[in-house]
Amino acid sequence: MQQFAAGLRGGVLQPGDAAYDEARAVRNGLIDRRPALIVQCRGTADVVDAVGFARALGLLVSIRGGAHNVAGNAVNDGGIVIDLSEMHSVHVDPERRIARVQGGATWGEVDRETQLWGLAAPGGQVSTTGVAGLTLHGGLGSLHRKYGLALDSLRSVEIVTADGQVRTASDSVNPELFWAVRGAGSNFGVVTSFEFALHPVGPEIYQAAPIFSLDDAPAVLRKYRDFCATAPDEFGPQAMFWSVPAVDDFPAELHGMPIMVVLVVYSGDPDEGERLLAPVLDWATPILDLSGRAPWAVAQSSFDAFFPSGGYYYWKSLLVGEPSDDLLDAVVEVAADRPSPDAIVNFWQLGGQIGRVAPDATAFAQRDAKYLLSLDTSWFDPDATERCIDWTRRTWAAMQERFATDRAYLNFVGFGEEKEALVRASYGANYDRLVAAKTTYDPGNLFRMNNNIPPRG
Ligand SMILES: Cc1cc2nc3c(=O)[nH]c(=O)nc-3n(C[C@H](O)[C@H](O)[C@H](O)COP(=O)(O)OP(=O)(O)OC[C@H]3O[C@@H](n4cnc5c(N)ncnc54)[C@H](O)[C@@H]3O)c2cc1C
Repeated sequence: MQQFAAGLRGGVLQPGDAAYDEARAVRNGLIDRRPALIVQCRGTADVVDAVGFARALGLLVSIRGGAHNVAGNAVNDGGIVIDLSEMHSVHVDPERRIARVQGGATWGEVDRETQLWGLAAPGGQVSTTGVAGLTLHGGLGSLHRKYGLALDSLRSVEIVTADGQVRTASDSVNPELFWAVRGAGSNFGVVTSFEFALHPVGPEIYQAAPIFSLDDAPAVLRKYRDFCATAPDEFGPQAMFWSVPAVDDFPAELHGMPIMVVLVVYSGDPDEGERLLAPVLDWATPILDLSGRAPWAVAQSSFDAFFPSGGYYYWKSLLVGEPSDDLLDAVVEVAADRPSPDAIVNFWQLGGQIGRVAPDATAFAQRDAKYLLSLDTSWFDPDATERCIDWTRRTWAAMQERFATDRAYLNFVGFGEEKEALVRASYGANYDRLVAAKTTYDPGNLFRMNNNIPPRG
C-alpha cells in the first residue's frame, strides 16, 4: 500500500482522513458509501497504477467522473474509487474543431473552453454533470437533434483497460473497443481522455421558455406534439412539468404553483430563432415568460441551482414512440400527481440526428425512440424519501406497461434495479456483441459498478 501510494502523483484517502468524507460524497444525498480507498488520480499513470493495484488485491472498483450517477456507481462500500475529479483539463484546437477533454471534466468546463471559439460539443443540460458518465452511456441535451448524442461526436478516447494497458480507441485503432465504449463505456475501462468533434454554437442562442398553467397542459401538449412533428433539427424541444421554484427569481405569489414549461432552445442564429419560435408563446396565455437570448454557457447552466449536491434524486425514464392522445393525457395525469414540488416530469423530443445513425454503428442501440419521458424526482426533505421513490417506481411501472416499448436509456434508470433485463432492453441486438467485447477486454469483470455486461464464462 505504501509503495503504491508513494508512486502516485495524486493522493490516497482512507477512512479517518480529513478529506475522506468530502471525497466519498456524490451528487445524490441518498448515497452514503464508505470505500476503503479513494485514489485521487492526477494523470494516466496514476490510473494505470490504481487499476493494477485493484486487480492485484481483488478490490471492487468504482470510477468517479462527475459523480452525478443517481445510483451512486462512482463510489462503493469497502473497495477502491478511482477518482478522476482532479483530471479535468480541456484543450481546444479551433482549427480542427476538436476538444481533448480529461476523464473527470464537467460539461461546464467544456463549454467554458469551447465557447471561447464559438464552438460546442453536445452535452447535457446541467453544467456540473460529468462528461464521462453522460457521454459513455448516450448523452442527451439541447443539441441532440442537430448533432446527435454526446457519444456521436466522439472521435477517439484514451482508455486504461482491466489489464492496465493504455489504449487509444477510434474508428481506425481498436475499432471494436471504440464501438463498445460508445454506449457501454463504464464496462470497458477508465477513460482518461475524450476527443470530441466540435460544432459552431453560440456564443448567443435564443430559447423560448413560456410557462403555462397546468390547466392548459392538455391543449398545450397537443400543440407541442404537432410542433415537434415538423420542427427542424436546430430546435431542442422539451415539455417540463414542475412547480414554480420558491426562489427570488419568481414572483412570490406563484411559488409552488404546478406548471408546464415549454423550453425550446434554438441552436442557430438567435434572431432567426426568435422569429421562428414566436408562435410557441401563443399556445396559451403564459403565466410567465422566460424566453430570450442568452450566452450558450449561461443557458447550459440555468438549471444548476435546482440540483444541488446533497439533494435527493431518484430518476427513471421511458423511451416512447409516436405520442398518442392517450399518452399525452397520461403524461398530464402523472404531472399532476408528482410527489414533490421539486420533481420534474420531462417529455423530451428525441429524433433528428440521433435516429440517422444506425443502431449497430455504436453500442448505443436505441436510435428510433421519438420521446424520452423522464421522471426526474428530486426532493430535499429526508422524510419524503420513501414516498418519492415509491411514487417514481409505481408510476414508471404503470407507464412502462401502458406505453413503452422494450427499451431503456441508461443515464436515467433509478438504481438500475432491473439489472440484466434493463441492460438487455438498452442494448437490444447489440447485447451479444457487447458480451463478446467485454470478454475480450475485461474477462474478470473488474469494472462492474455500472449497468453491468457480464463477460462470458
Ligand atoms: C443534475 C443532473 C443532470 C443531468 N442531466 C443530464 C442530461 O442533460 N442529459 C443526460 O443524458 N443525462 C443527464 N444526467 C444523467 C447523467 O448523464 C448520468 O447521471 C451520468 O452517469 C453522469 O455522469 P458522471 O460522470 O457525472 O457520473 P459518475 O457517477 O461519476 O459516473 C457514472 C458512471 O460512469 C462511470 N464512469 C465515470 N467516469 C468514467 C470514466 N472516466 N471512464 C469510464 N467510466 C466512467 C462510473 O463508473 C459510473 O458507472 C443528469 C444527471 C444529474 C444528476
